Amino acid sequence: MQSYGMFIDGDWCDAAGGARFASANPYTGADWAEIPQGGAADVDRAVQAAHRAFEEGDWPRWTATQRGAALIRLAALITDHAEALAKIEVRDNGKLWAEMSNQCRYMANWYSYYGGLADKVEGSVPPIDKPGVVNMVTYEPLGVCALITPWNSPLLLLAWKLAPALAAGNTVVIKPSEYTSASTLELMSLVAQAGIPRGVVNVVTGFGAEVGMPLVAHPLVRKVAFTGGEAAGRAINEAAARDFKKVTLELGGKSPNIVFDDADLDAAVPGAVSGIFAASGQTCIAGSRLLLQDGIYDAFVERLVEMAQAAKLGDPMDPETNISPVATKAQHEKILSYIDIAKAEGAKCILGGRAAQPEGSGGYFVEPTIFTGVRNDMRIAQEEVFGPVLSILRFADEEEAVQIGNDTAYGLAAGVWTNDLTRALRMSRRLKAGTVWVNTYRSTSYTTPFGGMKRSGLGRENGAEAIREYLQPKSVWLAEPQVVANPFIRR
Ligand code: NAD
Repeated sequence: MQSYGMFIDGDWCDAAGGARFASANPYTGADWAEIPQGGAADVDRAVQAAHRAFEEGDWPRWTATQRGAALIRLAALITDHAEALAKIEVRDNGKLWAEMSNQCRYMANWYSYYGGLADKVEGSVPPIDKPGVVNMVTYEPLGVCALITPWNSPLLLLAWKLAPALAAGNTVVIKPSEYTSASTLELMSLVAQAGIPRGVVNVVTGFGAEVGMPLVAHPLVRKVAFTGGEAAGRAINEAAARDFKKVTLELGGKSPNIVFDDADLDAAVPGAVSGIFAASGQTCIAGSRLLLQDGIYDAFVERLVEMAQAAKLGDPMDPETNISPVATKAQHEKILSYIDIAKAEGAKCILGGRAAQPEGSGGYFVEPTIFTGVRNDMRIAQEEVFGPVLSILRFADEEEAVQIGNDTAYGLAAGVWTNDLTRALRMSRRLKAGTVWVNTYRSTSYTTPFGGMKRSGLGRENGAEAIREYLQPKSVWLAEPQVVANPFIRR
């Protein structure tokens, strides 16, 4: 068993209460690491350290260029250590080595991008309707930011928050998922090596109710950035609202992946498979509702099933493996219960539908599962499963595709497969989703905004504008000495 400490004020430490919990490898089912189980006292210590670093430390005195340079050093260190970080993530969340190693290398881009942006955030001098007065608008950091992350892409989703928060000059307290704390703790060694001063970045490990909620509610926290499920997102939003804290929420989805008759099926079939079976469906952007137009329906389903059933389940470190285990026992049970719900609702299971246990594994596998005969009002079409379970729906024309596509409480992403450019433009305008992909699926980048409409979240991450989520404008008035009008004289 590997033993980890929390990272507070530049030091590794145990939880104040001394408790620890185990982290399991979803492939073997065996515990592999021990993590400190923090509580409100640890949260307070970490927030106080971040607050001191913000008010009194070197960080706020550094120029934006110096802060940016530290982030660029961190990016280089991440690139050097990407393989080691990815191995830990595979051990903790069971996702494929191919995906996690790419993700950990790619993640470095967030730190160099926002590092480069740090000294390019400009204020403005608006024209003012008063003589002898200049007004200037500057952008200031917020203070201590709480960053709360999920288990599915722990370091990547942290980078989406940590890089802009630091580039803007804030200090942070991170609460990683209790299922995948190890890689975030490992990252802290690189944060220290990059020369980011102590207290600027802190990590408190533990559970949502014991660490996450006290962190959100702490009076010195000025901003909360969260990625996770809807229930936690709502609780966090409500708690943050009590103290008027700024909030960014990246929540779930039930994204439509829409294939028209004129689509290139050689691209669309793998696009649909990747949309739902990559990461065993454990991504917020999963294309979990596949909408097929009448003319290609039968041919598409045949090719889709053929491709999905060839997928090999197994060890996530094996390059031959296509489908890895899901991350936790609870997740495994939830996915299987949704398969039962879909069957009870009358959907037809044409592939998979069962738990699996490849030889040598002790973990939580679910067969790639496909349902046809799904109506959009069924729970399997409305609720997020977060697993390798695809619902197929049929549509006649563009109007119906838009109607079904938008008939969801969520609005995170949508896919459109067509060779008709004007239709592609119309669809991208009409679909109510924060991201629309045409003839591709699952792409994200540090350069372009990501986030959800409706119940998929609040605010946006990524892209240049996202740094504003960690800044606040200040309006400064400079006047030639002038007599301020006497407020007691009626004019
Ligand atoms: P989760 O909401 O259970 O947990 C996410 C994080 O929040 C964890 O660190 C957890 O400990 C913490 N947390 C839980 N309850 C809390 C509370 N009351 N107060 C404060 N913190 C709390 O989510 P999860 O199961 O780890 O992740 C899966 C969910 O995340 C899915 O619903 C998925 O759609 C969503 N997700 C969204 C995106 C996105 O960018 N939109 C990306 C990945 C995952």
